[in-house]
Amino acid sequence: MPSRNILVINCGSSSIKFALVNEDQAQFTLSGLAERLGSHDAVLHWQRGGEQDSLIIPYGLHRAALAQLLPLAQDAAGGKLHGIGHRVVHGGERFTNASRLDEAALQAIRATVPLAPLHNPANLLGIEAATNLFPNAPHVAVFDTAFHQTLPAHAFRYALPESLYQEHGVRRYGFHGTSHRFVSQRAAEMAELPIDNSSWLVAHLGNGCSTCAIVNGQSRDTSMGLTPLEGLVMGTRSGDVDPNLHGHLTRTLGWSLEQIDHMLNQDSGLLGLSGLSNDMRSLEQARDQGHAGASLAIEVFCYRLAKSLAAMSCALPQLDGLIFTGGIGENSALIRSKTVAHLKLLNLELDKQANARTIRGASGPIQAHDHPRVLVVPTNEERQIALDTLALLN
Ligand code: ADP
Repeated sequence: MPSRNILVINCGSSSIKFALVNEDQAQFTLSGLAERLGSHDAVLHWQRGGEQDSLIIPYGLHRAALAQLLPLAQDAAGGKLHGIGHRVVHGGERFTNASRLDEAALQAIRATVPLAPLHNPANLLGIEAATNLFPNAPHVAVFDTAFHQTLPAHAFRYALPESLYQEHGVRRYGFHGTSHRFVSQRAAEMAELPIDNSSWLVAHLGNGCSTCAIVNGQSRDTSMGLTPLEGLVMGTRSGDVDPNLHGHLTRTLGWSLEQIDHMLNQDSGLLGLSGLSNDMRSLEQARDQGHAGASLAIEVFCYRLAKSLAAMSCALPQLDGLIFTGGIGENSALIRSKTVAHLKLLNLELDKQANARTIRGASGPIQAHDHPRVLVVPTNEERQIALDTLALLN
């Protein structure tokens, strides 16, 4: 059978990321980004082989961007596009796996909008536009939450009145499931351990950050909760704060719910702490030049990350390894070394040279001799979404 091509679409409120994945090729045949959708300078950028191109689509919305993109993908696939995999952020309790997008699945995703009001409507826009433009291809939804549906109740329930869970779905769901699953499977291969008999801690550190405890290929706990705000310090998100903060800010400063939401999601995290940037690369440079805010942001980020990993270790019968992934996890030797320095009680220690050289897409072990494994594993959510799509089509 000739190798198959899947177009992976990740639709945000003003952007669409995409990749054409061939099941037998490591590199994407085509990849790119449509951004600033809805504004006068909406633009579609793409790369194919060594070549790059872009196209201005003035005031183009998702449908206009997809109308440009789908023929490009068809062409790059040599006319053989076997399916389209859509990233969907929230699948609630309904979706424990990827799902073929029929009317019932669409209804269920719409019903999940109250749980992810920022993300699921944008994902749905992409799905609706792509299915209209491309009705004959099989469309599949792959959910960020699905992998975490194996969490036991003692990990997913909040200590809140039961009716909030039973009637309104208030519980911990977790996100980044596609990445946690992909890197834990890769780590098991690298360590030559069967995934169904191994235990991992994962730190996915991008603009959003989360930790995960994975036992025998299943998620047993994770740091994000009802929404992707819970847990770690992130680029612009606060992560955990005192749950009374909302009340405190309303009473003392008269802030509205919208102001508080905005502050916690957009103005906090690395950006809020440093007063400088949400970007870890910039913060490392500023720290080297003596910027106190950048230095503090990095210290808080690493300490909170280590604390979360130590907490996640409660879910493991043994530790086969700690995995770093995401832009920060794959590239920042500094963040890895500062985080692991807080985890002496887990007997973790890094090899300085291995840590320093395992960057920019390199993968491999970075632990010191005779210490538990610490692995850097580049994530590839697009490939995992394509694999999940193919598995459903089989
Ligand atoms: P997203 O969650 O949007 O996919 P990424 O996984 O690309 O984000 O991660 C983005 C983060 O990775 C940014 O904070 C960026 O500064 C950081 N990063 C990328 N390269 C480096 C590097 N060489 N050193 C430190 N941080 C890096």
